[in-house]
Amino acid sequence: MKKNLLGMDFQELGENIGNILTKNYQLKQIYHWIYKKKVLEIDKFTNISKNLREKLSENFSFSPLKIIEEKISREDQSRKYLFELEDGERIEAVFIPQRDRTSICLSSQVGCKFGCKFCLTGLMGFRRNLKYREIVAQLLSVLHINRERLDKRINLVFMGMGEPLDNYENVKRAIKLITDPDGISISPKRITVSTIGITNYLERFLNEMKDVKLAFSMNSPFSGVRKELMPVEKKFPLKKNLELLRKYSKKLKYRITFEYIMLKGVNDSLKDASEFLKITRGIPKKINLIPFNYFEGSELQPTEMEKIEEFAEYFRDHRIVVTIRDSKGKDIKASCGNLFAKTDIKKIKLK
Ligand code: SF4
Repeated sequence: MKKNLLGMDFQELGENIGNILTKNYQLKQIYHWIYKKKVLEIDKFTNISKNLREKLSENFSFSPLKIIEEKISREDQSRKYLFELEDGERIEAVFIPQRDRTSICLSSQVGCKFGCKFCLTGLMGFRRNLKYREIVAQLLSVLHINRERLDKRINLVFMGMGEPLDNYENVKRAIKLITDPDGISISPKRITVSTIGITNYLERFLNEMKDVKLAFSMNSPFSGVRKELMPVEKKFPLKKNLELLRKYSKKLKYRITFEYIMLKGVNDSLKDASEFLKITRGIPKKINLIPFNYFEGSELQPTEMEKIEEFAEYFRDHRIVVTIRDSKGKDIKASCGNLFAKTDIKKIKLK
């Protein structure tokens, strides 16, 4: 069976094919075909000798991930992909065309261990981390499938399955390859990592990936409510994370986005808004309010749009930039918190 090299960085690629190369520059040529030109068929590597192409093809491939399912939204043309990895595990990624840009939502883990109550991925439990090259292969697969639709600038968001900072080393190595100016070359400024706040890795992220944007998933300013919604609050409390964000925000060239899923009667009162402002004082920020995408079995309910507008208005009155997310791909369950839906969800209770 041929070894699939898609997603390997320059170093690992060299370790795998170095012994069949006859000239030093050939590794760079192959790297360019894959990552700069995004040509994945070895027989199209036209500046490489036929002999070397044959040797490569005998043992290796650069194959996109196997697609199990592609769902296309009738509402907004978002495309959700269910991919199968080499060991049979499955992940999802979403391609979201917008007016002025295209966003691609990537997964960082198979499943997730954190069990946030508003998120279906959390309900499936944790299976394993994605390797860095699986993250890159996931992106290249989405780009390859949509190669006719890549006429707008691309934004990447790590908001798919999994908590990216819980798979820090692989996400970091993947981002290094994705941002390589000599390769895929997506600017770090166009990449957003969304986290629920794994404090020790959050600090490393803020130190080591300064140009990559951070979105912090807040969802309640009150520790007690947050604990119920997001069990991670018990181990990595909001207070500690906010101290860290306050400290590092002065060095960042962008404003941190605070994500806030609007849950009826849980976190959507003006008291919540006021406390939110109070505890994030001193952190340059944008707020992204996310209407909850209800799923069957959940006892959480979405806040009415009128109330979300009121909530947003409170922040605008305090001159804070606030947006209300226009969730994409709702009809194909591609929107936030809806990835890898199971049908047999047990009742989820907010105590
Ligand atoms: S919101 Fe993120 S961290 Fe929470 S369960 Fe879902 S995938 Fe995991």
